[in-house]
Amino acid sequence: MSKPLFNKVLVANRGEIAVRIMQTLQEMGIRTVALASDPDLQAEHVRMADEVIHLPGQKPAETYLQGERILVLAQALGVDAVHPGYGFLSENATFAQGCAEHGMIFIGPRPEVIREMGDKIIAKDKMVEAGVPVVPGWSGDLETDFSVIRAKADVIGYPLLVKAAAGGGGKGMRLVHQASELEAAFSAAAREAQSAFGDARVFLEKYITRPRHIEFQIFGDHHGNVVHLFERECSIQRRHQKIIEETPSPALTPQLRNAMGNAAVKAAEAMGYTNAGTVEFIFGEDGSFYFLEVNTRLQVEHPITEMTVHQDLVRLQVQVAAGLPLPFSQDDLRQDGHAVECRIYAEDPARNFMPGVGTLDFYRPPQGPSIRLDSGVREGGEVTVHYDPMLAKLVVWGKERQAALEKMSWALSRFAVLGVPNNVEFLKAIIDHPRFRAGEVHTHFLEENPVDLKPVETPIAAILAAGLSSHILRSRVGSATPRVQEEHGIFGTTSGGFSQTLSPWAQGGAWRQLVCQK
Ligand code: ADP
Repeated sequence: MSKPLFNKVLVANRGEIAVRIMQTLQEMGIRTVALASDPDLQAEHVRMADEVIHLPGQKPAETYLQGERILVLAQALGVDAVHPGYGFLSENATFAQGCAEHGMIFIGPRPEVIREMGDKIIAKDKMVEAGVPVVPGWSGDLETDFSVIRAKADVIGYPLLVKAAAGGGGKGMRLVHQASELEAAFSAAAREAQSAFGDARVFLEKYITRPRHIEFQIFGDHHGNVVHLFERECSIQRRHQKIIEETPSPALTPQLRNAMGNAAVKAAEAMGYTNAGTVEFIFGEDGSFYFLEVNTRLQVEHPITEMTVHQDLVRLQVQVAAGLPLPFSQDDLRQDGHAVECRIYAEDPARNFMPGVGTLDFYRPPQGPSIRLDSGVREGGEVTVHYDPMLAKLVVWGKERQAALEKMSWALSRFAVLGVPNNVEFLKAIIDHPRFRAGEVHTHFLEENPVDLKPVETPIAAILAAGLSSHILRSRVGSATPRVQEEHGIFGTTSGGFSQTLSPWAQGGAWRQLVCQK
């Protein structure tokens, strides 16, 4: 076997994405280091890693967001590269820079690119320079006389959006229906942006009605090659959060796909982009498309690209970070078939999607040809309040869209979960919706097409099909929640800053953990 590209990689994340990244790293012969907060000491990603850095505490701010502490501990372990996953520190330019300062490679784009793309005004200006279409709008000094701003808004037209330059997660964003609301919305957005991001800069943007969210996967290497790996349609959103994604987009003709793909590559070239990224576009009902933002990381929904383009994006990220050229050119890439992803959340659709916590008493996802599950949990595990309630991503592939949707509908009907509320039935109702089946989606689909929110637990038929014994089922239905024995209780003593424990669940003793504490 040839020498691995890296000796040891830290996966600075948790949950399903940490598991998914480690899987590829292990295939590549690379040793893996996980992070573990207190509630995660028994989590899947921690069990999977060769070594573990323990970050005492529960909240992200005291654990997974402790960039400098993580880097110091990783360096002490001899880590040579860091994969940040998504969320947490993945789009933190200071962390990316810190990796280099601690002698480690950051598996992602350059810190300057992360910084620039984190500023929506700078990012838009860059795109205008590169000739990429952006949503018409206005940006300028906050001290500008308001009569000037009002005149600009009249030119843009209503409705329009006030958006924060440093925005994220919809914060600092206001929809303005008419001129009389503008000044109040402008000040409110600036105040919110100041308190959320410490940066009050806001700008104006035309509001595109009933748009689609269509994004392109981009990839650049350190040898000047930039490609796109086609689109993902992510219009099914709840409170600006994507919940179902598919590729190809039912809205794109080959001509439009080509035009948007070229724009995405132009955007990436203008930034000198390296590694994996996503160019998000907003797509109007008239077929016009505009740059929205660049996500400088691996996307949650990357598996649908992997299933249709037959590439492992994490493997590519590692190869590019190690200095290898991309192993293909644009002309080598094709979309094959259709892939759909559903995000399985521990949340209760009948109770305003309240996050669910508790023990996963029963967890049997469906299996079958062309079904992929990216999961960060296991039966018997605990779902806590501390982190994102996403349990898993269910991904299916079909030769064409209809076949993929039929498979997804079947797979959801066989997704058996007991112990925490979940959105499986809610997702199935969307997948089976005639409008969704017809591909008539936009970002307000769920507001315009409310689905029946009643069932929150897996139907009994699915549970039986998944093999739960009727004995346990009876005890469940009889309201007594069956206890699943927590088989593992480890993490031994610490000595000084480090402790070593031999995992009791690894037969043969090949599996060793090095637990570092602060
Ligand atoms: P954030 O970084 O806060 O998530 P984005 O700019 O990515 O903000 O926008 C979030 C969501 O808001 C988009 O996915 C889209 O649904 C909607 N949105 C953003 N800009 C516009 C626009 N100009 N017109 C209509 N909807 C928009």
